[in-house]
Amino acid sequence: MGRRPCNPQGNRGGAVSDGRKPGTRLVEAGRRPEWTGPVVNPPVWRASTHLYANMAALDEGKKHNADGHFFYGRRGAPTQWALAEALTELGPGAAGTVLYPSGVAAIAGALLAVLAPGDVVLVTDNAYEPTRLMATGLLKRMGIEARFFDPLDHTSFELAFCERTRAVMLENPGSLTMEVCDVPALAAIARGQGATVVLDNTWASPLGFQPFQHGCDMAVMSLTKHVGGHSDLMMGSASGGARWHARLRQTAQSLGQVVSPDDAALALRGLRTMGVRLERSTASALTIAQWLEGREEVARALCPMLPGSPGHEIWQRDFTGGCGLLSFVFAGRDDAARARFIDALNLFGIGYSWGGFESLVTPFDAGELRSATPWPPTGWPDDARLGVRLSIGLEDSSDLIADLAQAFAAMDAA
Ligand SMILES: *Cc1c(COP(=O)(O)O)cnc(C)c1O
Repeated sequence: MGRRPCNPQGNRGGAVSDGRKPGTRLVEAGRRPEWTGPVVNPPVWRASTHLYANMAALDEGKKHNADGHFFYGRRGAPTQWALAEALTELGPGAAGTVLYPSGVAAIAGALLAVLAPGDVVLVTDNAYEPTRLMATGLLKRMGIEARFFDPLDHTSFELAFCERTRAVMLENPGSLTMEVCDVPALAAIARGQGATVVLDNTWASPLGFQPFQHGCDMAVMSLTKHVGGHSDLMMGSASGGARWHARLRQTAQSLGQVVSPDDAALALRGLRTMGVRLERSTASALTIAQWLEGREEVARALCPMLPGSPGHEIWQRDFTGGCGLLSFVFAGRDDAARARFIDALNLFGIGYSWGGFESLVTPFDAGELRSATPWPPTGWPDDARLGVRLSIGLEDSSDLIADLAQAFAAMDAA
């Protein structure tokens, strides 16, 4: 790695802007010599107690609440610091990153860092289901009001603000239905209204979408997905500029959020290969989406990389990559037919989550999860309702297509 100045006084306070490409940063990020020692990866520092040499060191320790400073296990050690710093370096504009035991915990950490009783939060109507449930459950109990909005309708979005609106929760593309929204435009409206913009950037990761260069204040990611990449890890992260990073950190410390060094080491291992994995799964997903589009069983293929998919032009404008997660909606099939299709698949595991090396399938019915937007969308056939989400892994795409083809045949053979 390039010889960076060794700075034992802690966080450099921002992402490096050395002009290197993201693929290169993915390899180097967070590997400070004082954390790795003479080996490639930072060792797993298992620690609750950090010991001080003497009273003066104990007093000094209290002055530095930042990554890079030993204090106590809850503030992490080099393994967790290396991961947080690597994620910060991947998102230019971030001053720091906080780690959480899951992506949902990261979403809660970000929203609780900004919201207080009496506030209103505007939540995109195509948000990840647990985000929606958090807004209508936990946040509501705390006296915070959630209002859902159509991310494609900028006029009603602007009209949704009131003097109590403190934050906007975005996700791009939307969960399950995969519409790409215009984040810079929505963020500009939100800022004009004095609201803080939080983006769930799990789908694209910073390799595919740069949150802070597109107007967001905080970016949340489920590291369980692309960063872990092997379906053996749960973790989340939230990054922000200096002001929001400080708030995220305080809030996480008040809530006692920690991640284990073993998990941080697994996440770092996953991170190093994330670029090549995403390139492969993105290419396969596009091939499969194009194939699905030509099938008579399919009413719509929903994949941001696919021309004609909702918001594809914005994806082309704002994104530098994609991933293997896509959806499609059946043409006029019922629940039983969808179940036959899913049961007939051999290479797709039935299960939640995504971003692993193995392909997965889950059913969805977006009508149950939307309140500000119609489903099926206006202009679609009425019977284009039942959906399936595919997480495309690292298998050969021709084998995956053959598996999908035989499952369509099995579906309609009954
Ligand atoms: C899975 C997911 C999360 C939550 O991540 P966990 O690590 O499973 O808690 C958040 N946002 C999106 C978009 C997701 O798909």
